[in-house]
Amino acid sequence: MMAGYLLARAGVEVVVLEKHPDFNRDFRGDTIHPSTLELMHELRLLDEFLELPHQEARELHAVINGHVVPFADFTHLPTRCQFIALMPQWDFLNFLAGHAKQFPAFALHMQHEVVDLIFENDRVAGVRVKAPEGFLDFLADLVIGADGRHADGDASVDLEKAFAGWHEPIAVVLAATPASARSYLDLRDLPPLPRWHSGRHVLVGDAAHAMTPNMGQGAAQALLDVAALRDELAAKPRAEAFRVYERSRKRPAERIVRQSRAIGRIAQTANPLAARLRDTLARHTPAALMAYQMGRVLR
Ligand SMILES: Cc1cc2nc3c(=O)[nH]c(=O)nc-3n(C[C@H](O)[C@H](O)[C@H](O)COP(=O)(O)OP(=O)(O)OC[C@H]3O[C@@H](n4cnc5c(N)ncnc54)[C@H](O)[C@@H]3O)c2cc1C
Repeated sequence: MMAGYLLARAGVEVVVLEKHPDFNRDFRGDTIHPSTLELMHELRLLDEFLELPHQEARELHAVINGHVVPFADFTHLPTRCQFIALMPQWDFLNFLAGHAKQFPAFALHMQHEVVDLIFENDRVAGVRVKAPEGFLDFLADLVIGADGRHADGDASVDLEKAFAGWHEPIAVVLAATPASARSYLDLRDLPPLPRWHSGRHVLVGDAAHAMTPNMGQGAAQALLDVAALRDELAAKPRAEAFRVYERSRKRPAERIVRQSRAIGRIAQTANPLAARLRDTLARHTPAALMAYQMGRVLR
Protein backbone atom coordinates (compact mmCIF):
# COMPACT_ATOMS: atom_id res chain seq x y z
CA MET A 1 0.00 0.00 0.00
CA MET A 2 2.78 2.41 0.88
CA ALA A 3 4.57 1.61 -2.39
CA GLY A 4 1.31 2.33 -4.24
CA TYR A 5 0.86 5.58 -2.33
CA LEU A 6 4.42 6.77 -3.04
CA LEU A 7 4.34 5.90 -6.74
CA ALA A 8 0.91 7.47 -7.31
CA ARG A 9 2.03 10.57 -5.45
CA ALA A 10 4.96 10.80 -7.90
CA GLY A 11 2.45 10.61 -10.79
CA VAL A 12 3.11 6.97 -11.74
CA GLU A 13 -0.01 5.02 -12.68
CA VAL A 14 -0.36 2.27 -10.11
CA VAL A 15 -2.76 -0.56 -9.37
CA VAL A 16 -2.72 -2.20 -5.93
CA LEU A 17 -4.22 -5.70 -5.88
CA GLU A 18 -5.44 -7.11 -2.56
CA LYS A 19 -6.95 -10.56 -2.29
CA HIS A 20 -9.12 -9.86 0.77
CA PRO A 21 -12.25 -7.68 0.85
CA ASP A 22 -10.78 -5.54 3.67
CA PHE A 23 -7.59 -5.06 5.72
CA ASN A 24 -9.17 -6.28 8.91
CA ARG A 25 -7.21 -9.50 8.97
CA ASP A 26 -5.49 -11.64 11.59
CA PHE A 27 -3.49 -9.80 14.21
CA ARG A 28 -0.26 -8.75 12.55
CA GLY A 29 1.15 -6.38 15.10
CA ASP A 30 0.35 -2.90 16.11
CA THR A 31 3.63 -1.08 16.65
CA ILE A 32 4.51 1.83 14.41
CA HIS A 33 8.14 2.67 14.95
CA PRO A 34 9.91 6.06 14.99
CA SER A 35 11.43 5.37 11.53
CA THR A 36 7.93 4.91 10.07
CA LEU A 37 6.65 8.03 11.83
CA GLU A 38 9.60 9.90 10.33
CA LEU A 39 8.49 8.79 6.87
CA MET A 40 4.93 9.93 7.63
CA HIS A 41 6.33 13.30 8.65
CA GLU A 42 8.32 13.53 5.42
CA LEU A 43 5.07 12.84 3.53
CA ARG A 44 3.31 15.57 5.55
CA LEU A 45 0.84 13.00 6.86
CA LEU A 46 2.07 12.75 10.43
CA ASP A 47 -0.21 15.23 12.20
CA GLU A 48 -3.36 13.80 10.62
CA PHE A 49 -2.13 10.27 11.22
CA LEU A 50 -1.58 10.93 14.91
CA GLU A 51 -5.18 12.13 15.18
CA LEU A 52 -6.24 8.48 14.74
CA PRO A 53 -6.76 6.62 18.03
CA HIS A 54 -3.39 5.32 19.19
CA GLN A 55 -1.17 5.01 22.24
CA GLU A 56 2.39 6.28 22.52
CA ALA A 57 5.11 4.27 24.25
CA ARG A 58 8.28 6.25 24.99
CA GLU A 59 9.75 3.37 26.97
CA LEU A 60 9.15 -0.37 26.97
CA HIS A 61 9.48 -2.60 30.00
CA ALA A 62 9.99 -6.34 30.18
CA VAL A 63 9.28 -8.82 32.94
CA ILE A 64 12.30 -11.05 33.52
CA ASN A 65 11.85 -13.70 36.18
CA GLY A 66 9.14 -11.67 37.82
CA HIS A 67 11.19 -8.42 37.81
CA VAL A 68 10.04 -5.48 35.72
CA VAL A 69 13.08 -4.00 33.96
CA PRO A 70 13.38 -1.11 31.49
CA PHE A 71 13.80 -2.71 28.09
CA ALA A 72 13.85 0.06 25.51
CA ASP A 73 14.00 3.84 25.72
CA PHE A 74 13.15 5.93 22.63
CA THR A 75 13.45 9.34 24.23
CA HIS A 76 17.02 9.94 23.02
CA LEU A 77 16.42 9.11 19.34
CA PRO A 78 17.25 11.86 16.84
CA THR A 79 13.76 11.54 15.31
CA ARG A 80 10.67 13.75 15.35
CA CYS A 81 8.67 11.15 17.27
CA GLN A 82 10.56 9.67 20.18
CA PHE A 83 7.98 6.98 20.76
CA ILE A 84 6.40 3.88 19.28
CA ALA A 85 2.78 4.43 18.27
CA LEU A 86 0.45 1.52 18.99
CA MET A 87 -2.31 1.29 16.43
CA PRO A 88 -3.97 -1.65 14.61
CA GLN A 89 -2.32 -2.30 11.26
CA TRP A 90 -5.66 -2.07 9.44
CA ASP A 91 -6.19 1.51 10.66
CA PHE A 92 -2.79 2.38 9.22
CA LEU A 93 -3.61 0.69 5.88
CA ASN A 94 -7.06 2.30 5.65
CA PHE A 95 -5.49 5.69 6.36
CA LEU A 96 -2.92 5.22 3.58
CA ALA A 97 -5.52 3.87 1.14
CA GLY A 98 -7.76 6.88 1.83
CA HIS A 99 -4.92 9.26 1.01
CA ALA A 100 -3.70 7.29 -2.01
CA LYS A 101 -7.19 7.36 -3.56
CA GLN A 102 -6.91 11.15 -3.79
CA PHE A 103 -4.32 10.70 -6.56
CA PRO A 104 -5.84 10.13 -10.02
CA ALA A 105 -2.98 7.73 -10.81
CA PHE A 106 -3.96 5.34 -7.99
CA ALA A 107 -6.34 2.39 -8.14
CA LEU A 108 -6.99 -0.18 -5.42
CA HIS A 109 -8.78 -3.41 -6.33
CA MET A 110 -9.94 -5.46 -3.36
CA GLN A 111 -10.80 -9.17 -3.75
CA HIS A 112 -8.25 -9.42 -6.56
CA GLU A 113 -5.96 -12.34 -5.86
CA VAL A 114 -2.77 -12.67 -7.88
CA VAL A 115 -2.65 -16.31 -8.93
CA ASP A 116 0.19 -16.26 -11.45
CA LEU A 117 2.90 -14.17 -13.02
CA ILE A 118 2.74 -13.39 -16.74
CA PHE A 119 6.05 -13.78 -18.55
CA GLU A 120 7.30 -12.22 -21.78
CA ASN A 121 10.65 -13.50 -23.04
CA ASP A 122 11.34 -15.08 -19.66
CA ARG A 123 10.74 -11.76 -17.89
CA VAL A 124 7.82 -10.92 -15.62
CA ALA A 125 5.48 -8.63 -17.56
CA GLY A 126 2.39 -8.65 -15.36
CA VAL A 127 0.11 -10.77 -13.20
CA ARG A 128 -2.95 -12.96 -13.65
CA VAL A 129 -5.66 -12.23 -11.10
CA LYS A 130 -8.70 -14.04 -9.77
CA ALA A 131 -11.38 -11.38 -9.30
CA PRO A 132 -15.11 -11.63 -8.47
CA GLU A 133 -15.88 -11.20 -12.19
CA GLY A 134 -13.42 -13.91 -13.29
CA PHE A 135 -9.75 -14.07 -14.29
CA LEU A 136 -8.07 -10.84 -15.39
CA ASP A 137 -4.59 -10.03 -16.72
CA PHE A 138 -2.72 -6.92 -15.60
CA LEU A 139 0.35 -5.99 -17.64
CA ALA A 140 2.84 -3.56 -16.13
CA ASP A 141 6.26 -1.98 -16.61
CA LEU A 142 7.00 -2.70 -12.97
CA VAL A 143 5.63 -5.49 -10.76
CA ILE A 144 6.22 -5.10 -7.01
CA GLY A 145 5.82 -8.32 -5.05
CA ALA A 146 4.44 -7.20 -1.67
CA ASP A 147 2.31 -10.22 -0.85
CA GLY A 148 3.83 -10.80 2.56
CA ARG A 149 4.82 -14.05 4.14
CA HIS A 150 3.23 -17.29 3.10
CA ALA A 151 2.79 -19.22 6.30
CA ASP A 152 -0.83 -19.78 7.12
CA GLY A 153 -0.17 -22.00 10.10
CA ASP A 154 -1.66 -25.30 11.03
CA ALA A 155 -5.23 -24.82 12.25
CA SER A 156 -5.27 -28.36 13.61
CA VAL A 157 -2.74 -27.53 16.35
CA ASP A 158 -4.08 -28.46 19.79
CA LEU A 159 -3.29 -25.29 21.73
CA GLU A 160 -4.33 -26.72 25.11
CA LYS A 161 -1.79 -29.50 24.61
CA ALA A 162 0.91 -27.21 23.21
CA PHE A 163 0.60 -24.84 26.20
CA ALA A 164 0.00 -27.47 28.90
CA GLY A 165 2.01 -26.64 32.04
CA TRP A 166 2.48 -22.95 31.22
CA HIS A 167 1.95 -20.37 33.96
CA GLU A 168 -1.33 -18.53 34.40
CA PRO A 169 -3.13 -16.81 32.78
CA ILE A 170 -2.35 -18.88 29.65
CA ALA A 171 -4.76 -21.72 30.44
CA VAL A 172 -7.50 -19.29 31.52
CA VAL A 173 -7.13 -17.24 28.33
CA LEU A 174 -7.20 -20.37 26.15
CA ALA A 175 -10.28 -21.71 27.91
CA ALA A 176 -12.05 -18.36 27.41
CA THR A 177 -11.22 -18.15 23.68
CA PRO A 178 -13.68 -19.98 21.41
CA ALA A 179 -12.25 -21.82 18.40
CA SER A 180 -13.82 -19.29 16.03
CA ALA A 181 -11.83 -16.46 17.64
CA ARG A 182 -8.46 -18.23 17.47
CA SER A 183 -6.04 -17.51 14.69
CA TYR A 184 -3.07 -19.62 13.74
CA LEU A 185 0.11 -17.99 12.57
CA ASP A 186 3.42 -19.72 12.18
CA LEU A 187 6.10 -17.41 13.49
CA ARG A 188 8.81 -18.26 11.02
CA ASP A 189 11.33 -16.20 9.13
CA LEU A 190 12.49 -16.43 5.56
CA PRO A 191 16.02 -17.66 4.78
CA PRO A 192 17.96 -14.98 2.87
CA LEU A 193 16.92 -14.89 -0.79
CA PRO A 194 19.70 -14.78 -3.39
CA ARG A 195 18.10 -11.78 -5.12
CA TRP A 196 15.24 -9.38 -4.59
CA HIS A 197 14.74 -8.39 -8.21
CA SER A 198 14.71 -9.70 -11.73
CA GLY A 199 13.77 -7.83 -14.89
CA ARG A 200 10.68 -5.75 -14.12
CA HIS A 201 9.91 -7.58 -10.90
CA VAL A 202 11.03 -6.53 -7.43
CA LEU A 203 10.23 -7.71 -3.89
CA VAL A 204 9.59 -5.59 -0.81
CA GLY A 205 8.60 -6.26 2.79
CA ASP A 206 7.88 -9.73 4.10
CA ALA A 207 7.99 -11.16 0.59
CA ALA A 208 11.71 -10.29 0.62
CA HIS A 209 12.62 -10.75 4.28
CA ALA A 210 9.85 -12.11 6.54
CA MET A 211 11.07 -12.09 10.12
CA THR A 212 9.87 -13.37 13.48
CA PRO A 213 7.95 -10.68 15.38
CA ASN A 214 10.31 -10.56 18.39
CA MET A 215 11.44 -7.05 17.52
CA GLY A 216 8.09 -5.88 16.07
CA GLN A 217 10.09 -4.53 13.12
CA GLY A 218 8.51 -6.24 10.09
CA ALA A 219 6.27 -3.40 8.99
CA ALA A 220 8.90 -0.76 9.73
CA GLN A 221 11.42 -2.60 7.55
CA ALA A 222 8.85 -3.00 4.76
CA LEU A 223 8.28 0.75 4.79
CA LEU A 224 12.01 1.48 4.71
CA ASP A 225 12.17 -0.78 1.63
CA VAL A 226 9.53 1.13 -0.28
CA ALA A 227 10.96 4.52 0.68
CA ALA A 228 14.37 3.40 -0.62
CA LEU A 229 12.84 1.93 -3.78
CA ARG A 230 10.96 5.16 -4.44
CA ASP A 231 14.16 7.22 -4.04
CA GLU A 232 16.13 5.00 -6.42
CA LEU A 233 13.37 4.80 -9.07
CA ALA A 234 13.07 8.59 -9.00
CA ALA A 235 16.78 9.01 -9.68
CA LYS A 236 17.89 6.11 -11.87
CA PRO A 237 16.83 3.81 -14.71
CA ARG A 238 14.88 0.78 -13.48
CA ALA A 239 17.62 -1.87 -13.63
CA GLU A 240 20.12 0.30 -11.80
CA ALA A 241 17.48 1.48 -9.34
CA PHE A 242 16.64 -2.15 -8.45
CA ARG A 243 20.32 -2.98 -7.99
CA VAL A 244 21.02 -0.03 -5.72
CA TYR A 245 17.77 -0.62 -3.80
CA GLU A 246 18.72 -4.24 -3.13
CA ARG A 247 22.27 -3.28 -2.19
CA SER A 248 21.08 -0.68 0.32
CA ARG A 249 18.26 -2.67 1.93
CA LYS A 250 19.12 -6.39 1.80
CA ARG A 251 21.90 -6.38 4.35
CA PRO A 252 20.18 -4.22 7.02
CA ALA A 253 16.88 -6.07 6.68
CA GLU A 254 18.52 -9.49 6.88
CA ARG A 255 20.50 -8.35 9.92
CA ILE A 256 17.19 -7.60 11.67
CA VAL A 257 15.89 -11.04 10.60
CA ARG A 258 18.90 -12.61 12.36
CA GLN A 259 18.68 -10.36 15.44
CA SER A 260 14.99 -11.06 15.76
CA ARG A 261 15.55 -14.80 15.58
CA ALA A 262 18.38 -14.56 18.15
CA ILE A 263 16.22 -12.55 20.58
CA GLY A 264 13.45 -15.15 20.24
CA ARG A 265 15.89 -17.98 20.85
CA ILE A 266 17.31 -16.33 23.97
CA ALA A 267 13.93 -15.20 25.33
CA GLN A 268 12.29 -18.59 24.80
CA THR A 269 15.16 -20.90 25.66
CA ALA A 270 14.10 -24.10 27.40
CA ASN A 271 17.66 -24.76 28.59
CA PRO A 272 17.73 -23.97 32.35
CA LEU A 273 21.44 -23.07 32.29
CA ALA A 274 21.05 -20.69 29.37
CA ALA A 275 17.95 -19.19 31.01
CA ARG A 276 19.88 -18.58 34.24
CA LEU A 277 22.75 -16.97 32.33
CA ARG A 278 20.26 -14.76 30.43
CA ASP A 279 18.52 -13.66 33.61
CA THR A 280 21.81 -12.94 35.40
CA LEU A 281 23.07 -10.87 32.48
CA ALA A 282 19.79 -8.98 32.29
CA ARG A 283 19.94 -8.28 36.03
CA HIS A 284 23.52 -7.02 35.90
CA THR A 285 23.37 -4.94 32.74
CA PRO A 286 22.72 -1.36 33.82
CA ALA A 287 19.04 -0.77 33.06
CA ALA A 288 19.63 2.57 31.40
CA LEU A 289 22.32 1.12 29.08
CA MET A 290 20.14 -1.79 27.99
CA ALA A 291 17.14 0.49 27.40
CA TYR A 292 19.29 2.99 25.45
CA GLN A 293 20.68 0.29 23.18
CA MET A 294 17.36 -1.45 22.60
CA GLY A 295 15.79 1.91 21.80
CA ARG A 296 18.31 2.27 18.95
CA VAL A 297 17.79 -1.30 17.75
CA LEU A 298 13.99 -0.99 17.72
CA ARG A 299 14.01 2.42 16.08
C1 LIG B 1 2.02 -12.07 15.21
C2 LIG B 1 2.75 -10.97 14.48
C3 LIG B 1 3.01 -9.75 15.13
C4 LIG B 1 3.68 -8.73 14.46
N1 LIG B 1 3.92 -7.56 15.12
C5 LIG B 1 4.48 -6.53 14.47
C6 LIG B 1 4.61 -5.25 15.10
O1 LIG B 1 4.19 -5.04 16.25
N2 LIG B 1 5.21 -4.26 14.39
C7 LIG B 1 5.66 -4.44 13.12
O2 LIG B 1 6.22 -3.50 12.51
N3 LIG B 1 5.53 -5.63 12.48
C8 LIG B 1 4.93 -6.67 13.13
N4 LIG B 1 4.75 -7.87 12.48
C9 LIG B 1 5.24 -8.02 11.11
C10 LIG B 1 4.35 -7.27 10.14
O3 LIG B 1 2.99 -7.64 10.27
C11 LIG B 1 4.82 -7.58 8.72
O4 LIG B 1 6.22 -7.53 8.66
C12 LIG B 1 4.28 -6.55 7.75
O5 LIG B 1 2.87 -6.59 7.76
C13 LIG B 1 4.83 -6.85 6.35
O6 LIG B 1 4.17 -6.05 5.43
P1 LIG B 1 3.98 -6.58 3.94
O7 LIG B 1 3.23 -5.48 3.25
O8 LIG B 1 5.28 -7.03 3.39
O9 LIG B 1 3.09 -7.87 4.06
P2 LIG B 1 1.60 -8.04 4.64
O10 LIG B 1 1.33 -7.04 5.70
O11 LIG B 1 1.45 -9.48 4.95
O12 LIG B 1 0.69 -7.65 3.41
C14 LIG B 1 0.59 -8.48 2.31
C15 LIG B 1 -0.79 -8.22 1.70
O13 LIG B 1 -0.86 -8.91 0.47
C16 LIG B 1 -2.08 -9.60 0.42
N5 LIG B 1 -1.85 -10.76 -0.44
C17 LIG B 1 -1.16 -11.89 -0.15
N6 LIG B 1 -1.14 -12.71 -1.22
C18 LIG B 1 -1.84 -12.08 -2.19
C19 LIG B 1 -2.15 -12.42 -3.52
N7 LIG B 1 -1.77 -13.57 -4.06
N8 LIG B 1 -2.88 -11.55 -4.25
C20 LIG B 1 -3.28 -10.36 -3.74
N9 LIG B 1 -3.01 -9.99 -2.46
C21 LIG B 1 -2.29 -10.84 -1.71
C22 LIG B 1 -2.43 -9.96 1.86
O14 LIG B 1 -3.81 -10.19 2.02
C23 LIG B 1 -1.93 -8.73 2.60
O15 LIG B 1 -2.90 -7.73 2.71
C24 LIG B 1 4.10 -8.92 13.12
C25 LIG B 1 3.85 -10.13 12.48
C26 LIG B 1 3.18 -11.14 13.14
C27 LIG B 1 2.92 -12.42 12.43
